[in-house]
Amino acid sequence: MFDAVKSELTRRHLLHKAGFGLMSLGVVGTFGAVFKPDRTLAQTGSTPAKQPPMPPEKKLGWAVVGLGKFATQQIIPSFGECKRSRLVALVSGSPDKAQRIAQQHGVEPKNIYNYQNYDSIRDNPEVDIIYIILPNGLHAEYSIRGAQAGKHIMCEKPMANTVAECQAMIDASKKAGRKLMIAYRAQYEPYNLAAIAIAQKKELGILKAIVADHGRNLDPKDPADRWRMNKKLAGGGSLFDIGIYSLQAARYITGEEPTEISAMMYSTPNDPRFKEVEENVNFMLRFPSGVIANCTSSYGYADVKRYQVMGSKGTLELDPATDYYEHRLYVQRGKVREERKIQEQNQFALEMDHLSECVMENKQPKTPGEEGLQDVRLMTAIYQAAETGRTIKLS
Ligand code: NAD
Repeated sequence: MFDAVKSELTRRHLLHKAGFGLMSLGVVGTFGAVFKPDRTLAQTGSTPAKQPPMPPEKKLGWAVVGLGKFATQQIIPSFGECKRSRLVALVSGSPDKAQRIAQQHGVEPKNIYNYQNYDSIRDNPEVDIIYIILPNGLHAEYSIRGAQAGKHIMCEKPMANTVAECQAMIDASKKAGRKLMIAYRAQYEPYNLAAIAIAQKKELGILKAIVADHGRNLDPKDPADRWRMNKKLAGGGSLFDIGIYSLQAARYITGEEPTEISAMMYSTPNDPRFKEVEENVNFMLRFPSGVIANCTSSYGYADVKRYQVMGSKGTLELDPATDYYEHRLYVQRGKVREERKIQEQNQFALEMDHLSECVMENKQPKTPGEEGLQDVRLMTAIYQAAETGRTIKLS
């Protein structure tokens, strides 16, 4: 028990140092809607018993659930660059695809599962961690089943469709004594870490404003975009899928939690893509230090993934900010604008190795389930602000 409390306090200290202010999670709408957090970051100390340290060359075994675009194009190839993680199992509804990918990546045929026999993964000691890369509406079910099978879970963003689902995922992992991490890759990516350090070491002076824009043009012909038009599978529209990066940036750059939210939403009338989910959401966040963030999220405009940070002594611009590779960082003080070059690294390998290390050393991940829950809670408040035209106060 003491170890659990100590490790939580250490984690809080590290999060604070890294700029992650503790959350104040009660959300009160001016129209009376009340979000009550069941739990705060400070209360998440159910850490399982300490495991003995692993040998330095040890890699943990990962299973990937869902072999779609992101899994096959980004995640699976990135295992080759991992130091602590290796691909040992696949879970898929398409046996042919699974067999082909298994062959390409040296996964044994006995370690291929489908959605029906998924739970039997509990009997496979080669699998330590399960990575859920399914449509958003399936994250909760497969994360919970994975935890119940005794495995640690990495789950893609957004964590789930609702606050209740997020909480159920956290509870299931805790009950099983296993880790739960949300795959917020930007929080492991070197350019974003540099931007956080520049902002928080006051290189820009006192922070005043953040502008963050994330958008892309949803393509109904792309199979990976079809489920994104379906509310049940996607949870929301552009905000849940890509606007979440604007929200994340505002939170990790300030290291604070917003106290007020206002928003507007617009979808092009009669555009069949937006029958169930929204096209555009613009939202404003007020932070306790006085920073105001203006964020946009769109399924209508061409690829934009950028943010700017304005301080009393200078400005920072990261564009692209949250792409897979080739980020560009500029810092301007007075009339001097300089580009800062940083060694690119495979952010997917970095985030996967982070979870492997947390499991090996029994540490809480930097982006645990509570981080995903907070975003889903805030996105719910953004929708409410847009729907009611009222500013939502969070306390
Ligand atoms: P995708 O459609 O390419 O992949 C989803 C996979 O789930 C497919 O293989 C599909 O066959 C399978 N699936 C199982 N049951 C399904 C069902 N009932 N309906 C539809 N598909 C079903 O989508 P994607 O772009 O790879 O996204 C998957 C997840 O990864 C999403 O949660 C998304 O938000 C996340 N993602 C994250 C990033 C990132 O940068 N972190 C980038 C892209 C996608």
